[in-house]
Amino acid sequence: MKKPALHIQILIALVLGTIIGILVNPGEAPLDDARGRIEPRNGEVAIVEEAAGEMVMSVELFRERYETLAERAIRDGRVEPTEIAITRRRAHLVEDGRSVTLTYTRRVDGRAVVSKLEAPNAARFVERHPYWDTFYTERGGGFRAAVIAAARFVGDMFLRLLKMVTIPLIVTSLITGVSGLGTTAQLGSMFLRTLAYYAATSLLAITIGIAMVNLIRPGVNAQLPGGGEGAIQGGDESLLGVFVRLVQNMFPENPIQSLAGGDFLAIITFSILFAIFIIRTGGESGETLRRFFQSAFDVVMHLTMFVIALAPIGVLAFMTYATATQGIDIFRTLAWYMLTVFLALVIHAGIVLPLIVKFVGRRSPVRFAKAMSPALMTAFSTASSNGTLPLTMTCVEERAGISNRVSSFVLPLGATINMDGTALYEAVAVLFIAQAYASADPTFTLTFGMQITVAFTALLASVGAAGIPHAGLVMMAIVLQAVGLPLEAQGVIIAVDRVLDMCRTTVNVWSDSCGCTVVARLTGEPVAVPTAIAEAAKTG
Ligand code: ASP
Repeated sequence: MKKPALHIQILIALVLGTIIGILVNPGEAPLDDARGRIEPRNGEVAIVEEAAGEMVMSVELFRERYETLAERAIRDGRVEPTEIAITRRRAHLVEDGRSVTLTYTRRVDGRAVVSKLEAPNAARFVERHPYWDTFYTERGGGFRAAVIAAARFVGDMFLRLLKMVTIPLIVTSLITGVSGLGTTAQLGSMFLRTLAYYAATSLLAITIGIAMVNLIRPGVNAQLPGGGEGAIQGGDESLLGVFVRLVQNMFPENPIQSLAGGDFLAIITFSILFAIFIIRTGGESGETLRRFFQSAFDVVMHLTMFVIALAPIGVLAFMTYATATQGIDIFRTLAWYMLTVFLALVIHAGIVLPLIVKFVGRRSPVRFAKAMSPALMTAFSTASSNGTLPLTMTCVEERAGISNRVSSFVLPLGATINMDGTALYEAVAVLFIAQAYASADPTFTLTFGMQITVAFTALLASVGAAGIPHAGLVMMAIVLQAVGLPLEAQGVIIAVDRVLDMCRTTVNVWSDSCGCTVVARLTGEPVAVPTAIAEAAKTG
């Protein structure tokens, strides 16, 4: 029997992985309502709960988050020990061979609170969290845990293989592509067109996001956060700081170190400069090097093809893991928010970008999307633009017939700095949080000026975000800070980030790919007959 084409194989893997994941998902167990206590703790307030331990916070934060509780527990400015009720408790357990994680959602004074309790293995988990002993005995271990652990291992192996070829691919392909231009005059125009495309599409994406969030208003009356889990740390840089770091990172002090560290921007700059000076040097030296990199590129490309043939297995594993580890309850809490992000992404990727491909790139968007489908599905399951890059490059060149000169330039740079999906997501998420705060606190209003600030900082955050899972969430701190919102606000949306990350990464990769059609057309690059479509179908 003939093997189905690669994109069909990946599609089957995607669906199959989802089904297996749902089957092995341990599911959520509702628990009876519980009691907890408010207690003073060294000048701060502790919410003590047997199941999740203590949440300690400042008095101001406590007042802000748990208004009605604060009314009961604070007398004459002093925190009095007070009994409280904890309702709508649910727990979701995940064991993946490396850790045991329990996601615990409940309402404290009407507010959704999420905690993640973790331990490296089952014995430690029960020891650290004795409250969950019976729960673990009922739900943990067994066949499900084994399938999830296997899925995680296989998925990670696939991602490792992809990462293994990524840096050699960027270097050889960029040097081959740029040195093949013949003159450096063309390079400037290609660079400017590429940047113009990145900026234009990211801003369009943000505009759509902002329009949708104002239309649907998912944050109005949404119960925001609180959470033992707290905000993601490490993104609290100033705007200028991010920009300066970005520019600095483009120029490595030591290119070998950047290569070893997998520092995309630095590698891209050095490779382009190296290629420019291959052209400038010319003569025998230039020609020898050009041929050397051309040969290296051919070999790396073959290696890449070999890794890509394994994509269906990788996608199967990633999808199994992703669906097996999600808890459902939190999706209900954030349904409107997720729907807003999703619809905005669909409008951008399904209407705006295809129109650009059709009228500027002068190609059939449907056929182009089909050619790109292996990369898009891999982006969806891995949630990493960097990891998907080898597939994106192969699809653009081999399946869509766009020259290596364009793809080697537009794609690696795009994987790092052009993230339409992430930009849109930043804007929607921050405005969602702002809406929720504004509806809870009448003194906080969301002005038009703030929306503009969100738009531009979201753009910068998307440029600064690395093409790895959850990078967008870390960078969100910049946008939150720019409009004066607390980082803790991320507490709840972290829980659904993986799913949204999968969607936005697909849009990121799709936008980079569409950029290739635009830049190829605007710079008059010839489009090869994509013979490899037939070949890819043959080899799978
Ligand atoms: N995961 C995204 C990417 O790789 C970045 C993000 O978190 O938004 O493109």
